[in-house]
Amino acid sequence: MSVSVALFTANLRLHDNPPLRAALASADEVVPLFVRDRVIESAGFATPNRQAFLADCLAGLDAGLRKRGGRLVVRSGDVTTEVCRAAAETGAAEVHMAAGVSAYEQHREDRLRAALEADGRRLHVHDAVITAVPPGAVTPASSDHFAVFTPYFKRWSEERLRTVQGAPRTVRVPGAALSDRLPSRTDVSGVSEGLAAGGEREGRARWSAWQRNGLAGYEDHHDDLAGDLTSRLSPHLHFGTLSPVELVHGASRRGGAGADAFVRQLCWRDFHHQVLAARPAAARADYRSQHDHWRTERSAAREITAWKEGRTGYPVVDAAMRQLRHEGWMHNRGRLLTASFLAKTLYVDWRVGARYFLELLVDGDVANNQLNWQWVAGTGTDSRPNRVFNPVTQGKRYDPQGDYVRRWVPELAGLAGPAVHAPWKLRGPERAAYDYPGPLLALSDGLARFKRARGRA
Ligand code: FAD
Repeated sequence: MSVSVALFTANLRLHDNPPLRAALASADEVVPLFVRDRVIESAGFATPNRQAFLADCLAGLDAGLRKRGGRLVVRSGDVTTEVCRAAAETGAAEVHMAAGVSAYEQHREDRLRAALEADGRRLHVHDAVITAVPPGAVTPASSDHFAVFTPYFKRWSEERLRTVQGAPRTVRVPGAALSDRLPSRTDVSGVSEGLAAGGEREGRARWSAWQRNGLAGYEDHHDDLAGDLTSRLSPHLHFGTLSPVELVHGASRRGGAGADAFVRQLCWRDFHHQVLAARPAAARADYRSQHDHWRTERSAAREITAWKEGRTGYPVVDAAMRQLRHEGWMHNRGRLLTASFLAKTLYVDWRVGARYFLELLVDGDVANNQLNWQWVAGTGTDSRPNRVFNPVTQGKRYDPQGDYVRRWVPELAGLAGPAVHAPWKLRGPERAAYDYPGPLLALSDGLARFKRARGRA
């Protein structure tokens, strides 16, 4: 009996999973392996929300494999050691996995390849599994990656994507492949109360419903904070319970302005991944330094705490920060406004905010989080690095009736209409109707400090 290993990383699905299909095609039996990576766990990246969602994903994967005659094999420890061990125990000649993007993932692949080859085995790394278009597949003439989104989007749109692969019918797993106990959501403490459920079945159901009910209106409604009319597929894309290739094909087949706008957002995801793959240091260092002397956790401790706790006195910022804590997820417009408020209005190092987002976001992703934070801070790929969002005007524009604020800031629930975005302006009995902090600072003061810092005063 020939054996291959299908190593699952950020592709926790049975549908459209090229490494799994290739492993199945190459051998009589396959070890569907997931390694709980000690490096990721000890680096603090395995936060409660993502651990809980991951547990759902692994349970779903195991159930899907069992339906097909197989089962999931879970191990814990060093990825190279565990994959080599599983391959040796089962006599596997090949290991198949998805290409990674970050510096750590690239290093992990190199180590694994060298160790397997030393044992006489081969590693096959598959592209277009975690992104729709692989990083590096399209490049400008003069660089190894695109630093500007619009030309990237043009070239990305011209790429011919691979075809979508179905889920396998049967999976035969060698008896010698022993598994640890699968983690369970109930093992994890500190999980956000409103965290969504994970797993491929959940992801596919959400994707189907979204195509029927959300996609067509996406262009018009994606910024409607109270309407909450985006796909909420980001955790599924992060864990790979959905395939970005399948999503691009599916949305493009439906067509229309909503589908086009949605595909464009999927392209933003690939865009950030190709920047990170080419410049792994951008996870920590400014992509384009503006020579900032940021305020830090020490010099702005009080303001940072107020921001984290949703007590800045700017209702839309506070609403979004509370949504993050409650759901482990935040609307994109909220992410833009809270990040701009921290990095520009409070002039705090974007890394402080990015770290906090990564602690809580279920979709927390090095490429998307760090590079979006850099985009907002003006140290990344935004062509207008000094723009500052005004949380009051933005609140009134994207939450015109104030419903989003009232949902997340119950102290203001008694205030009617858009006045909720600037409660300090109220006079008379309405003023006494709420117990909510005044603004942490005047927006004009924040703006003046930011302009001075960027040499634009
Ligand atoms: P939809 O609007 O339905 O979009 C569909 C998909 O497109 C998303 O699921 C996502 O995969 C992708 N997408 C949408 N907008 C972006 C974007 N600006 N950049 C990259 N991909 C995008 N997204 C993450 O997946 N993980 C993060 O850690 C993350 N951190 C962010 C931090 C900041 C400061 C900002 C401004 C944005 C961040 N985003 C992040 C991007 C975006 O906010 C989320 O992807 C989006 O809100 C997820 O909701 P959705 O699935 O309903 O998105």
